[in-house]
Amino acid sequence: MKRLQQTLSRIDGRGYKAYKEIQGAYRFPRFTLWIDYVQGDPFAAPSRIRVRMSQDEAGYPEEWFCVPHRKIALEDWVTRVWARKVGRYSFRTKGTGKSGLIDVDRPGQEILPRTAAVVTRDYVEVRVTVGLPAQGRRVLGRKAEEMLCGFLPRLVDEAIPVEAIDRKGVEERMRLVDNQQSIRSHLKEKGWIAFVADGAVLPRESGVSDLPLTGKEVVRFRAPESMRATVEVPHGPPIQGMVLRDGITLIVGGGYHGKSTLLNALERGVYDHIGGDGREYVITDVDAVKVRAEDGRRVEKVNISPFINNLPFGRDTLQFSTEDASGSTSQAANIVESLEMAASCLLIDEDTSATNFMIRDGRMQKLVAKEKEPITPFIDKVRQLYEERGTSSILVLGGSGDYFDVADTVILMDEYHPFDVTRQAKEVAEAQSNNRDQEGGKVFGDVTSRVPLAAGLDPKKGKREKVDAKGLHTIQFGTAHLNLAGVEQLVDPSQTRAIAEILRLLGKRADGSKTLRELIEEICQEMKKNGLDFLSPFRGQHPGDLALPRKHEVAAAVNRLRTLRVK
Ligand code: ADP
Ligand code: MG
Repeated sequence: MKRLQQTLSRIDGRGYKAYKEIQGAYRFPRFTLWIDYVQGDPFAAPSRIRVRMSQDEAGYPEEWFCVPHRKIALEDWVTRVWARKVGRYSFRTKGTGKSGLIDVDRPGQEILPRTAAVVTRDYVEVRVTVGLPAQGRRVLGRKAEEMLCGFLPRLVDEAIPVEAIDRKGVEERMRLVDNQQSIRSHLKEKGWIAFVADGAVLPRESGVSDLPLTGKEVVRFRAPESMRATVEVPHGPPIQGMVLRDGITLIVGGGYHGKSTLLNALERGVYDHIGGDGREYVITDVDAVKVRAEDGRRVEKVNISPFINNLPFGRDTLQFSTEDASGSTSQAANIVESLEMAASCLLIDEDTSATNFMIRDGRMQKLVAKEKEPITPFIDKVRQLYEERGTSSILVLGGSGDYFDVADTVILMDEYHPFDVTRQAKEVAEAQSNNRDQEGGKVFGDVTSRVPLAAGLDPKKGKREKVDAKGLHTIQFGTAHLNLAGVEQLVDPSQTRAIAEILRLLGKRADGSKTLRELIEEICQEMKKNGLDFLSPFRGQHPGDLALPRKHEVAAAVNRLRTLRVK
């Protein structure tokens, strides 16, 4: 630490580049500080540092990180503590650019494996970004010293050692994630798709906030008796709630009665949520995938023939490519691509679907002959999909009762309360024929695996590599601008950053011999086994701002790349 102080006072007042001298490792009384990367100027991406305290000093009980889901939850906890502290103390100096900034990655409502903090048997490490203070382009050495040798050690003292940690809070978090984990394995064992606990709060504060809605008007979830199950959990009394089994489930009901809200909660249930979120015990199979219409997207040689045939001008639908998909073709491509990645369940909302993809009723069948309609609507494929491939569907559909015939379960949302109306729906279907003919053949059709080529995954723009994630929905990859706004289960900008790096890795590994699924699953295995650090483009530096995406969102990114080429 003395050495750092000396260097900082020596370079005080010099040009900003002099900061490069402080790169390296420094021993502080209670921890080690690594200055991994020093920014080039006060406006550039901030510098990256790490603080590491040994477990002798930190003293975390081993049961806090002995199993993977607890370790993830603990690292998430430590990250949140830091995010709160740097927010509160925010050490700002009067300086240029990012002078005095101290930040860590900021988790949202989900608990995701991320790189911001690492807890092992040996140490606790937090990865931080800092803006090294400057006046104009001159080093503010004294300010930097105050920041790194005064403020930072205090922060470490207040945020890392076990005596500073809210023990009760951590232990409660551990019980929560144990329970979530246990419900997840329960789902797997029973082959259920999702579980929504009684008392869950599904609605969000607003369209732009992921925080729970609060106030008197909130209707807590309560399972219909016929769909209720009780799940034993390791901590506390058994949890009761609604079970969604495999097969085809419809969510019906009047407009504004909470259908989409329920589906959105199920979409997010592929991730675990923090206590107080309201969706702690909304648990969905990890391979459930939301699909929607997404006109304008690119499609690269996808076999959409299960849904679409005989396009005008004889366009190929076995290897369908387009720079500008329509609503229905994009939805067909989204479904087939999800099946290619082995989705267990499709989540579909009428609000974001192409009507002509979802239904074609009896009258329309009489007016427009099948030969003149390229689209086989989803209603004619949804059962085949389940019976032949085991892929379930959960559909929000307030507008078409034709689906009663193909549904296993029908849930009615009425003033935000769910009711099991399966029997009534079947009776309606018996009493009143939909007068339509089954279309599209007796089998679902083939899902064709594709083999991506390295040429389409080139991160170069001109002579240099350009890979950059901007916010949740945009990635620049080489010459391509990737728009992920239609990928609704992407929840954290740190996942987007990770995906950008995975694309780079895929470019290195796509040698024309492996399918997209093989390539992505291989990387997901590695991330699971070794953490996400290896994705970092910064050799020998920490990537403090990555979070784990699912394989489905990685595939979604690849599939939307305008440069993608497959064999
Ligand atoms: P639908 O899809 O049936 O048209 P939405 O799910 O979009 O309806 O819900 C309509 C509105 O009701 C939204 O503003 C939502 O936040 C609110 N809402 C949904 N569920 C609940 C609930 N359980 N309690 C209170 N408000 C809710
Ligand atoms: Mg809706």
